[in-house]
Amino acid sequence: MSPWRLPWIALGEGEQNWVAGLAEEFRRTLIESGHVVADEFDEHQVLLNERESMRLSEVTVALTNAPTIDCNFVCPHCFEGCDKPQLRMSSATMDAVVHFAHYQITETTQGLSVTWFGGEPLLGLKQIEEMTAKLKDQIVDQRHLQYDLHVMSPRATVLQPSSSA
Ligand code: SF4
Repeated sequence: MSPWRLPWIALGEGEQNWVAGLAEEFRRTLIESGHVVADEFDEHQVLLNERESMRLSEVTVALTNAPTIDCNFVCPHCFEGCDKPQLRMSSATMDAVVHFAHYQITETTQGLSVTWFGGEPLLGLKQIEEMTAKLKDQIVDQRHLQYDLHVMSPRATVLQPSSSA
C-alpha cells in the first residue's frame, strides 16, 4: 500500500501490518480519501493521465508561468543552480502571455487556470498581481470564465510579516 495524493512512500511489511491493524473506520477513511491505496493501484499512471487530460482539455485553458526564477534559498539540488538571475517577468511578456491565452480560448472554454512557479514565485508577487489583473480585465471577466490561481511556493517564507515582497 502507498499514499496517492501525497509524496509517495512504499510501505514495508511492518507498516502494512500497522495499517491493517488500524481501527476499521479510520482505515476506511484513509482508503476512501486516497491516502492509502493497494499495491496494484498505479498512482503514477493515474496522475500522468490526469495531467494529460487537463493539458488536452478544451474546457479549461491551463497556463504555467514563472514571474521570476530568483529564489531566497540556495538548495544544493536546485536545477536552476546557485547564481539565479534576479530578473522579473516584464509587462511586455505579460502582454504576450495574455495574447497567447486569448488565442487558446475557444467557444467551449469555461475556465482559465494559472499556475505560478519559480524559483520562489512569491518574489514576483507584484508581477503575479499585475498579470492576474490583466487576465481578469481582458479575458476572464469579459468571457465570464471560472478563474483558478495556484502558486507553487517552495516555502512561502517571503510572506513573513517582515517582508515587503
Ligand atoms: S527552493 Fe526551489 S527554486 Fe529555490 S533554491 Fe531550492 S530548489 Fe531551487
